[in-house]
Amino acid sequence: MHGVNKSFGTNKVLDDVSLTIAPGEVVAIIGPSGAGKSTLLRTINHLERADAGVVSIDGELIGYERRGDVLYELKEPAIRRRRSAVGMVFQSFNLFPHLTALQNIIEAPVSVGGVPRDEAIADARDLLARVGLGDKADAYPRHLSGGQQQRVAIARTLALRPKVLLFDEPTSALDPELVGEVLDVIKELAKSGTTLIIVTHEIGFAREVADRVVFMEGGKVLEVGPPERLFNEPSHPRTREFIAKVL
Ligand code: ADP
Ligand code: MG
Repeated sequence: MHGVNKSFGTNKVLDDVSLTIAPGEVVAIIGPSGAGKSTLLRTINHLERADAGVVSIDGELIGYERRGDVLYELKEPAIRRRRSAVGMVFQSFNLFPHLTALQNIIEAPVSVGGVPRDEAIADARDLLARVGLGDKADAYPRHLSGGQQQRVAIARTLALRPKVLLFDEPTSALDPELVGEVLDVIKELAKSGTTLIIVTHEIGFAREVADRVVFMEGGKVLEVGPPERLFNEPSHPRTREFIAKVL
């Protein structure tokens, strides 16, 4: 992303954010509440439209098309097509309550992606096994724990084969004893080379899994660095204060 700005009224929420993330890289975004972290993720997805600046993934602009020197905003369904490069997992898992785990996973690939149903089912079973829920294909969300629901939500996102996966505080709605199982799944994704951007308050997790950590405050990226450097020797005084508070 380059030069991204976003305001809500007079509230400047993203202030000239530029960030380049390599394929396979795992980036953790930390910072106080209201820093603009969720808005940053939503802008990558074009769920929020930046006031200025561009986001591109694998050479494709998200939400826009360039003709000569001018950017034109895409319309649906072209926006949706490009957005499919980005998978997003939210704090609240948002599974369809009337569909089983397996049905939740195949819904989008079958009805939007045009994947044949039997192929989608086979893939969903593989994905459920991958998130440790091979035996829960036929369970409805209400019969699953929060950690299991979040793992189904991750499998559902993976079914769309995104180029980059965004997590917005994926464990903050969970009871403490369920956090670990979800972090383990994300760790496994990180190891397998999936490109991940994770907004998280789990500092230990960020330290262990992230290639780089981004500290944001007041809509600005104040510091970016490898975890050992950023956590042990933060160079920005605001990073230092934040880390002292959360560790
Ligand atoms: P974070 O995720 O770091 O806590 P957010 O991106 O959610 O921060 O919010 C950053 C700022 O933008 C906050 O001041 C928030 O109130 C404001 N904000 C976020 N979304 C909206 C919206 N849809 N309309 C108006 N203000 C918003
Ligand atoms: Mg947020």
